[in-house]
Amino acid sequence: MGLDDIKRRIAAAEEGAGRAPGSVTLIAVSKVQPADRVTAVLDAGHRVFGENYVQEAQGKWPGWRDCYPGVELHMIGPLQSNKAKAAVELFDAIHTLDRMTLARKLAQQISQGARQPQLFIQVNTGDEPQKAGILADELPVFLSSCRDLGLSPQGLMCIPPEGCDPLPHFRLLRALAQDHGLPNLSMGMSADFEAAIAEGATHVRVGSAIFGARDYG
Ligand SMILES: *Cc1c(COP(=O)(O)O)cnc(C)c1O
Repeated sequence: MGLDDIKRRIAAAEEGAGRAPGSVTLIAVSKVQPADRVTAVLDAGHRVFGENYVQEAQGKWPGWRDCYPGVELHMIGPLQSNKAKAAVELFDAIHTLDRMTLARKLAQQISQGARQPQLFIQVNTGDEPQKAGILADELPVFLSSCRDLGLSPQGLMCIPPEGCDPLPHFRLLRALAQDHGLPNLSMGMSADFEAAIAEGATHVRVGSAIFGARDYG
């Protein structure tokens, strides 16, 4: 299990960037991982996890939540509008608010229920046609439309294009968040979380470096 190593590396990256210890939240991305690997991380005391699929998370987490108090669950995968209700019920944060239809559904659920998951807007920093997310240019309008619906997103999230230097994407995301007064930055994965921390990430999403490779077999 790579949890201790990752925690040490996060602490070193915080220090290297002159940031306060503990200012970065480690989201352990447990999608597709076998149960024993996830419970090992829970047994080690970690409580913040990320999942990509509502249905998979619904199957796993209610049971673990009963056994491990204090679990904080983050939705980091694409969210279908028809799963908005289930997502609001299950997750403490949603990182993938990426379109108005979803914003409307989330606003409906949040206004009706007691639960208020923290929201991140996903930004398509690489302007990739196949990738979800709001384009940087469209962010001001999207953000004000969300606020009109009564939502208050507190951060931005990005997944830089594969095979490219992530730094310009981390910097763009940070600049956009600063421009709009959003405190949270969800960026950095197994391969680049230290660079993301140097650029101001508040939430890093680390899967395989903690749990080992995912087996989609
Ligand atoms: C799967 C996933 C991660 C974790 O990826 P690793 O490379 O295993 O750390 C992070 N963010 C998102 C959005 C993911 O889908």
